[in-house]
Amino acid sequence: MLKPVAEGVRVRRSEFCQTNTVVVDGDAGVLLVDPGILDGELSTIAGELSAAGQPVAAGFATHPHWDHVLWHPGFGSAPRFATARAAAAIEAFLADAAWRERVAPMIPADIAERVPLTLFGELTALPERAEWIPWDGPRARVVEHRAHAAGHAALLIEERGVLVAGDLLSDVLVPLVDHSAEEPIEDYLAALTLLEGIADGVEVVVPGHGSVTGPDGLRERIDLDRAYLLALRDGRDPLGDPRLGPDAVYDWVAGVHERQAVLLARR
Ligand SMILES: [Zn+2]
Repeated sequence: MLKPVAEGVRVRRSEFCQTNTVVVDGDAGVLLVDPGILDGELSTIAGELSAAGQPVAAGFATHPHWDHVLWHPGFGSAPRFATARAAAAIEAFLADAAWRERVAPMIPADIAERVPLTLFGELTALPERAEWIPWDGPRARVVEHRAHAAGHAALLIEERGVLVAGDLLSDVLVPLVDHSAEEPIEDYLAALTLLEGIADGVEVVVPGHGSVTGPDGLRERIDLDRAYLLALRDGRDPLGDPRLGPDAVYDWVAGVHERQAVLLARR
């Protein structure tokens, strides 16, 4: 079930990695952000929307990672927007005839058969430096930055006080930096500053993975992500980070942290 988190904004959490699908009601259909993961979940969302007489008017992928660029035939053929940089990254990936073999190791084996790749990554590039999603509905501001992945963008639905954060500001995952970037940690810190700058008026934050939070949670998560990144940059242990250690929701996050610390130390 899609659950309301603000007027005209609903969220559904996937069983995979607490991935959040976001649906924003528009004038003639919905904006579907990061549609979801498992075939059954996607078709349930499609069924729920069609039963409510709400076609998908537009899609948006916050960034070009496999778990944010899936689709389902039930959503129809609306444009699936992404930043120009994100769309270019996926296009380059799909240009390799062996992309299916390349994507396979990214998907956990236990869910692989339930992840539909038929319409994978068929994104429409927004113009360079586009400020808004072109659709009939509450204005959705594109907040592009360089943290986590090329062309990552958060969406700010100002009229609804909702920030759709993509893979930042999670309470279950530590910040995962883009290792292909020249300055991955500085890029991430800059993105947090950018989000901090638009925090006024945000009442609801929906992260790509994890629980929805409010204005206090937004500031806490910015601080927590920043503290983690500074520890990573300085080669310290991010002591007390609740996403690591014994009370972590996912025990594998500690391993991901160790790997990225090693990769960064090698630079
Ligand atoms: Zn990601």
